[in-house]
Amino acid sequence: MTDSPLTLFNSLTRQPEEFRPINAGEARVYTCGPTVYNYQHIGNMRAYVFADTLGRVLSWKGYDLTHIINITDVGHLTSDADAGDDKMEKAASESGRSAWDIAKYYTDAYWRDIERLNIRQPAKWSIATEHVEQMIDFAKSIADKHCYELDSGLYFDTSTVPDYGRLARAATDEGESRIDPVEGKRQQTDFAIWRKTPEGETRQMEWESPWGRGAPGWHLECSVMSKMYLGETFDIHTGGIDHREIHHPNEIAQNQAHSCSADTGANIWMHNNFLVDRAKDGKSSKMSKSAGEFLTLQVLVDKGVHPLAYRLMCLQAHYRSELEFTFENLLAVLTRLKRIVMVKEQLNDDAHGHSPENRNEIPSEVQAFIDHFDEAISDDLNTPKALTVIDELADQKQIWAGHRLMGLFEIDKVLGLGLNGLARSSLRIRPASAEITEGEIEHQLDLRAEAKLNKNFPAADAIRNELVAKGVEIMDGDPLRWEWRIEP
Ligand code: AMP
Ligand code: ZN
Repeated sequence: MTDSPLTLFNSLTRQPEEFRPINAGEARVYTCGPTVYNYQHIGNMRAYVFADTLGRVLSWKGYDLTHIINITDVGHLTSDADAGDDKMEKAASESGRSAWDIAKYYTDAYWRDIERLNIRQPAKWSIATEHVEQMIDFAKSIADKHCYELDSGLYFDTSTVPDYGRLARAATDEGESRIDPVEGKRQQTDFAIWRKTPEGETRQMEWESPWGRGAPGWHLECSVMSKMYLGETFDIHTGGIDHREIHHPNEIAQNQAHSCSADTGANIWMHNNFLVDRAKDGKSSKMSKSAGEFLTLQVLVDKGVHPLAYRLMCLQAHYRSELEFTFENLLAVLTRLKRIVMVKEQLNDDAHGHSPENRNEIPSEVQAFIDHFDEAISDDLNTPKALTVIDELADQKQIWAGHRLMGLFEIDKVLGLGLNGLARSSLRIRPASAEITEGEIEHQLDLRAEAKLNKNFPAADAIRNELVAKGVEIMDGDPLRWEWRIEP
């Protein structure tokens, strides 16, 4: 257990609040997960790096964490409000594959990225289509008092709960504007609890219900699954800031209807800001699947960038700030990660040959740095500040290297860079477009070193030019000793 009190920004009250768990020693967290009709882009993945960092901090501070992330494989329309087609059905009809196949394919792709970003497994991945029965039960329990039926489905009357939209009022204008295509809705903000399949049609994903054959509205799943796995009221609910506008206010309304109280269902609602792209006109905008280059983690890897460099990029910004993505920034972060790994390897080397008596304990001089780290991370997860402790700690030459290394590994439990298992060689990734293998490069470099040794400079230059022509940049005298890099 570490000592600094943990303060988290609550979007609901719009202020930082000390984390006080509902059950002493426990932390129950729910994170809105992906809609699996397509790959997640790196902006989406920022939301999970944030939720993972929160989870790691809670565990590190000694709380017994139960973290649930859902997989949305039904119900999410192309607009977060009740407009457009179901994203899953639309992807199915466009690709000629079944909605179920699509869900499986993109869930697997998402899980691969989760692993590559060193995001810890939650207690459970709760899958929406596996909980439809419970969703129907939940809807039945609130239907009489809070819902009304139209030809298109069962709708939630947002005037029946206290202070509807309180969370959204904290939002700026990032969310999408509300569109109201459904005839007969009492309030523009009312939303679908159940969408009936139109007469004469069949959907790939549909179930029988008291309101006819159809599918649940998107917001229902999170109220149902969070309560099922975490209890009626739990500690923290997270998501991207677009969820402050529609999805989370609607979850809150459902929760209030269900508990017949003003309780929003979670004590703290937390939202990560967007990863943004800078367009050619110089303006920044939210990275999305529909605009600009579709950047997945795989695209970064194909360009020769290790996925954990993207994790470090996320940590370099505070989760409540926008983060602008450029490749130049990412390459700079990759260099920082390489430096950190070199520091680790150096400490490891330096630790050998000398072994103090208290070799297995973290001494107070190192603990002082861990405490600084704790202070920063406990201040609403100030990861950019917390990261500076790495260099500060590494620089303490008077402290035995082995102890500095222990300190580094201790703070990495929170940062999640996986430093223990990360070698310099694992950070060198061959871009997908490279015309040459690593073995060939190493061989050419050996020949070049030999030529230089024999003072045969024309031969050495010829090898260099040949490598450059194949996209290999040789970094003679590279202070990081990385020696070569393939240009993406
Ligand atoms: P979706 O798959 O669209 O349901 O989104 C998954 C998660 O990514 C949600 O928590 C969104 O709020 C979040 N998100 C979407 N776009 C971005 C972005 N550009 N930057 C950060 N988070 C995002
Ligand atoms: Zn949700």
